[in-house]
Amino acid sequence: MEVQSKLFIGGEFIVSSDNSSFSTINPATEEKICEVSLANEEDVNNCVLSSKKAQVEWFSLDASQRGKALLDIAKAIENAGDELANLDCLDGGRPILDCKEDVHAAVEMFNYFGGIVDKIKGNTIPVQNDKLCYTRREPYGVVAAITAWNYPLFNACAKIAPIIATGNSCILKPAEETPLTALKLAEIIQSIRTIPQGLVSVINGPGEITGEALTRHDGVSKISFTGSTETGRKILRASADTNLKGAVLELGGKSPFIIFDDANIEMALNGIVFSVFYNQGQTCTAGTRLLVQEGSLEKVLNGLDERIEKLTIGDPISEETVLGAIISKEQHQKIINYVDDAVESGISLYCGGKIPSNIKKGFFYEPTVFLNVPSESKICKEEIFGPVLVVQTFSDEEEVIKMANDSKYGLASSIWTKSSQRLTLMANRIETGIVWCNTVFAEHPGAPAGGYKQSGYGREYGDSAVDEYMQLKTVWVDLSDDFFSWP
Ligand code: ADP
Repeated sequence: MEVQSKLFIGGEFIVSSDNSSFSTINPATEEKICEVSLANEEDVNNCVLSSKKAQVEWFSLDASQRGKALLDIAKAIENAGDELANLDCLDGGRPILDCKEDVHAAVEMFNYFGGIVDKIKGNTIPVQNDKLCYTRREPYGVVAAITAWNYPLFNACAKIAPIIATGNSCILKPAEETPLTALKLAEIIQSIRTIPQGLVSVINGPGEITGEALTRHDGVSKISFTGSTETGRKILRASADTNLKGAVLELGGKSPFIIFDDANIEMALNGIVFSVFYNQGQTCTAGTRLLVQEGSLEKVLNGLDERIEKLTIGDPISEETVLGAIISKEQHQKIINYVDDAVESGISLYCGGKIPSNIKKGFFYEPTVFLNVPSESKICKEEIFGPVLVVQTFSDEEEVIKMANDSKYGLASSIWTKSSQRLTLMANRIETGIVWCNTVFAEHPGAPAGGYKQSGYGREYGDSAVDEYMQLKTVWVDLSDDFFSWP
């Protein structure tokens, strides 16, 4: 497989201006895949310049031409699907079947946003009769997208598609742990004839060098970020210190997954196992806090045992694998530390809690469950980003609402009960940006997604993406041919 490793600026692959690079590692083998060019401040400056030029050219095309280009990108991604999935698997340690599923989600993102480009409209406002007042939606210009490593292809497409659909250009800085897929993606996008050179650029490098240079750049007019709450704060500081660029922030989570006694327990069990262990628990919206109504605890634990046993951990390239590798040595160690601390502080470890004994290389970890977890404990409060579930019990709705909302985060929640009245009341009272009722991880490019509280602000996808990535201009036209003299 051909692997691109340079910077993608101005529509071509180039090495960084000081020739610096960093290594990217396959987390399933701990082996180096290749050296990747590292973008410094000068590279970022050059990238912003070419990105601005491309944006002007792009927005001068008819909306229908731009929409058609996005549909062409969708087709091209579909055609290159196997290669993109293999890169995600290699660089991110994700099971190959999951990576292939993400290709479909990526294609859908471009299809959806390709369809909305020529349907974005302004308004005419009924003002004084001697005037015409209307609004226009206009792009910001250059939008920076900074992404996390958990879904390299999907995260990139979920940013690029709405950003360019709304007439902006996009500079993508992928996470330094997974730099490769985005480079291939950028090349695919550039292969579409109507895409101006440099409309989508990809610059790799560490957050504190490449990310900072991008977020501090006055030529960048908006930032779309997915990552930790801590980095979200740094991005807002960088914006406040420079040109006050706006930001859409999709940050951390500690999402409650609530099972009532009257739920379809078997379905709920399928849901929680998928929610917390899919992608090795490295999902912002993972249901990491399982709140079970007292009468169902035993049944839920038995069901968890059965299902966890079937989660095959191992080589991500094998189609048998359900749980792949943790992204990096640092992240692996972070999970180990959280679990060891919890055990040392006396919290009851129900299962897992160790590296699988049969795997000698790579960063793997067993699905882990803790019982009777105190609400104030670190594992109940902090985002671990690994396959670790904490279980608590509750007696009634009032108690579970309090427990569910007792978090600085508010990204997503999942509620399981057969009572539609209870579902609706709970959905009203829970403080999360997404509420899944008798389901989990439902998503669609048309459905807004984003967090409450410290899980971020702004909404991605659907009409919300148009609001986020376009600014509104109000135009006044005098129809009277008369302007009063003053004073
Ligand atoms: P995670 O903990 O999921 O790795 P991070 O917030 O550290 O999340 O990283 C998410 C993305 O933010 C990565 O692309 C990373 O390089 C970038 N990043 C980290 N620090 C900064 C920063 N100071 N400015 C801009 N981007 C940053």
